[in-house]
Amino acid sequence: MHLKTLTLRGFKSFASSTTLRLEPGITCVVGPNGSGKSNVVDALAWVMGEQGAKTLRGGQMADVIFAGTSARAPLGRAQVELTIDNADGTLPIEYSEVTISRTLFRGGGSEYSINGASARLLDVQELLSDTGMGRQMHVIVGQNQLDTILSATPEERRGFIEEAAGVLKHRRRKDRALHKLADMDQNLVRVLDLTNEIH
Ligand code: ATP
Repeated sequence: MHLKTLTLRGFKSFASSTTLRLEPGITCVVGPNGSGKSNVVDALAWVMGEQGAKTLRGGQMADVIFAGTSARAPLGRAQVELTIDNADGTLPIEYSEVTISRTLFRGGGSEYSINGASARLLDVQELLSDTGMGRQMHVIVGQNQLDTILSATPEERRGFIEEAAGVLKHRRRKDRALHKLADMDQNLVRVLDLTNEIH
């Protein structure tokens, strides 16, 4: 499995549709200060489901939409598409190539799709979670994050390892199940109250 292409449309400084082709192995992005190198990495995190505007170096999520320049008007939406080569079947889906897309509209709406079919954030997270990629998987290490990792406590370090080992997916599922159980408990109390009232 490897990342094949990343297409940015209206994402941060990439107003026009821009496609980066990535070959297996190491890819380096070079360019002058402020030319958009980090924006490419932000796009990668964003399309994989990043929810924190601060992680994407913005104040709010709409800051990822091209804000305009003196030469070009602001755009109404940002879209990023990531195509992954899945010939080795690493991703749990019956396609040899998988395209994940995320769109955000300035009005507030947001959409994900997997190979053109509408999807939820959860679907994208689950698709990527067994690969060690995706949100909170520490595959993207920001400029200031190295210090955090180097000075982490043993407990925090265990957390990083657990996440890389794919435990995070099961912890999320457990949290969702516990949440549902708590909701059920509340419903049960309400049913008992109503039953008592009727009798
Ligand atoms: P450095 O080498 O200094 O880290 P860089 O190449 O990583 O720089 P980025 O941080 O990726 O550069 O890009 C910064 C540029 O992106 C700035 O010029 C900023 O104005 C522009 N930018 C960020 N968000 C938007 C947006 N929503 N709309 C338009 N331009 C944006």
